[in-house]
Amino acid sequence: MKLKIGYLYPDLMNIYADRGNVECLRRRCEWRGIAVDVRAITVGVTFAPDELDIILLGGGQDRQQRAASEDLQAATGDSVRGAVEAGAVLLGICGGYQLLGSAYIDADGTELIGLGLLDLETRHPGFVAARCIGNIAVDWEGGILVGFENHGGRTYPGPTAAPLGRVLAGGGNNAEDGTEGSVLDRVFGTYLHGSLLPKNPHFADHLLGLAVERREAGYELEPLDDAAEWAAHRAALALLGIRQGE
Ligand code: GLN
Repeated sequence: MKLKIGYLYPDLMNIYADRGNVECLRRRCEWRGIAVDVRAITVGVTFAPDELDIILLGGGQDRQQRAASEDLQAATGDSVRGAVEAGAVLLGICGGYQLLGSAYIDADGTELIGLGLLDLETRHPGFVAARCIGNIAVDWEGGILVGFENHGGRTYPGPTAAPLGRVLAGGGNNAEDGTEGSVLDRVFGTYLHGSLLPKNPHFADHLLGLAVERREAGYELEPLDDAAEWAAHRAALALLGIRQGE
């Protein structure tokens, strides 16, 4: 088994340790004897629909996000959409998540066009409004995801958007409706930085499971000793006053 991970815009969209998601997936594969290739996809780089198994897009400041949005409207965006259509897993974090929707209207009112893969739009209410900053916990498929959020933009899901989870503590999509993130098939968006995947090994394996299953039906991921990962998860929850299992 061999997986190829595309790391989208490492030079533009990579804050609050989002790079850790790439390293986490790489190590979780290597520990299981799964070969991994990580390819950096920078501005202007294209790839074939079947070339990548997992694509990761981190968060960024509005200025870098604008550059990413412009590039995604060109050939790189077509490559990402082609890969998703072919069955690749895509994870966008914060600014990267915002670019998976139709648009992000920034604090100056400038519209940054997104990939349109998820039915949602994000609007920054302006600098008078408080940013959503802090630790966050989300109810996800009967478990919990922990992370750190820092965003001005408020994401409003459209009628066909399914939330990734429900906020247990923190702001989430818009600090109003209790939803966090969005998912459609193999496309995942979330506000959780942190890094997200190292301290949420169940979610990391969910993404890897989808990727290996696409390459080989019935392929089972070997269980790993995640004691350190769960300790980090519990420590993050404890910061929010939540004890695991509650
Ligand atoms: N620029 C976006 C916002 O503030 C995203 C920030 C981020 O990726 N952390 O809403």
